[in-house]
This record gives sequence, C-alpha cells and structure tokens, in this order.
Amino acid sequence: MANSQSSLLLFFIDGLGIGTRGPQNPFDGLVEAEPLAIFQHEPPQIPFNGILAATDACLGVPGRPQSASGQTTILTGINAAAAIGAHKQGFPNPPLLDIIREHSIFLQLKKSEVDSITFANTYTKQFFERRPRWISATTAAVEAAGLRFNVVEDLKAGRAVYHDFTNALLRERGETVKIRTPDEAASVLASIVARHRFTLYEYFITDKIGHAQDYEGAKSVLLSLAKLIRSLLGQLDLNETTVILTSDHGNIEDLSARNHTLNPVPTIVWGKDREAIANRVRSLTDITPAIVEALRKGNADGQSG
Ligand SMILES: [Zn+2]
Repeated sequence: MANSQSSLLLFFIDGLGIGTRGPQNPFDGLVEAEPLAIFQHEPPQIPFNGILAATDACLGVPGRPQSASGQTTILTGINAAAAIGAHKQGFPNPPLLDIIREHSIFLQLKKSEVDSITFANTYTKQFFERRPRWISATTAAVEAAGLRFNVVEDLKAGRAVYHDFTNALLRERGETVKIRTPDEAASVLASIVARHRFTLYEYFITDKIGHAQDYEGAKSVLLSLAKLIRSLLGQLDLNETTVILTSDHGNIEDLSARNHTLNPVPTIVWGKDREAIANRVRSLTDITPAIVEALRKGNADGQSG
C-alpha cells in the first residue's frame, strides 16, 4: 500500500527572490539557469510544467524579511514574524524555537499519520560533539520531532546529501567523501524522495553569496543548483511525486546591496498536486498547510486505492 501513496519534496533555498533585470541581478543574461531565473513582470520559464506562485515573505511586519522568522514560518505555517513582532535574523531565538517545537511540519505530518518523513541533509560528527549554541530552524524541527539525523556514513552509503550537494565543503572539513556532480547528487536525492512520503532538503549557500555580493560566485552556484534541480525533476516520477521549491526571503537576486530584499520569493510547484498547491500559496504561511493537506489526501487515496 505504501507504494501507491504519493510523496512530496520541499526544496528550500535560502535567500532567493524574484528580482528585476539589471546589472545587480546575476540571473540577468545567465544561460541555463531555469527554473531559478525568474524576473518580475515577465512570464516565468519553468521546465517540467512547474507552476510559479510568487510568494510574500514580508509577512505584514515592517522591515526586511529575515531567515529565522521566515524559516520558522515556512516550517510551521504560523506567521512567526507577526508572533514575535519582528523579523529575526540568523538562528531562531527561544520564542521561535517554542513555535517550531510545538508546530513544525514534521510534527503535523506525524499527527496526520503521514509516514515516513525525513530531512535529507547530512550532519558531521562535530555537530554532535560540540553542539553549537545556536541551531537552525530545520535542526530544531528535526530534533523536536524525534527524527533521525543523517550523518556522513549515510552520505557515503548514498542515503543523504550534504548542504552544498557536491560534497566539496565536506571534503574541506576533512571528510573522505567523493565529489558528486549535480546529476549524481540529484540521483541520491531522488532515491531519498522515492523512499519517503515527505522529504525536506535545505540549501543556503545562495544567502551567503548574496551577503558577500559575490557576482562570479553567484553565477557558478546558481548554474550548478539549477542543474541539480532539472536533473532531479527528470529523475522523479512526477505522476506520483510533488516538488515544492521555496525560499525565506530575497537576497541573491540583487547583489547591489548586502541586505536581504523586499522582493517576493518564488514558490515553484511541480508534479502531482501542483495546481492545488500553487493556487493556495500566497505567503510563507501557506506552505506547511498546503503540504499537510496534500499528504493527508494522499493517505486517503492510498487507503482507498
Ligand atoms: Zn534566509
């Protein structure tokens, strides 16, 4: 019965907005950057019949949208910026951690008996030996839901992906792992998605490059990331699988300033439930409810079919 049930991947990219054309935007003139290259006031070029839902990241709270509040909102469906009265940058503070620990998408799916769920990213031994004082929203969500953390052994066995997906940064940290091409990393991610009802993958180098205003770095990272995503979409069964790409705020689409932008972010939906999900996503608060509803519906379909 498990095989007849649909699966869903949430592909989170930190700091990717919908910008305007111009020399500040590394996407302008970049060839083969679809589906990531999306411009305001232009019809999007999205392969594999993906649907764009331009998504508000400002959440009705003054100021520039930030990572901790935006990610908490994506991962819970609760307007975290409104809840704490501000956009919170970096890592979640105690009030945001409380929201994640009570309401994360992992917990909501568990309550809805959506089984099984996973975070595809890899953690190194150092994380467990010298636990950082501040943890990311995703790490807090994984921990609170009692999910297993993937470690480097899982990656070596082809069961996990590092956050840079090529493994280059993991090798810099002294791990003896093979470099993966975008195609190879896509195969691993596709096999993880096929084995789970819900998979989360997180990529955040885009945000770091945006803050560094690194134009050449941006072009190379965006091309590689776009290639990974196209390869992944080509390897998934989109009749049974839904893919949602989204971001917490803009950044890399405007390198003229080191700050986050006020631009909408692209939520792009492919596959089985793309129309229903794209139709209801208007703000970051809509992502988790849309996923939970789609997978609950998938539960019912799987049981009746
Ligand atoms: Zn961010």
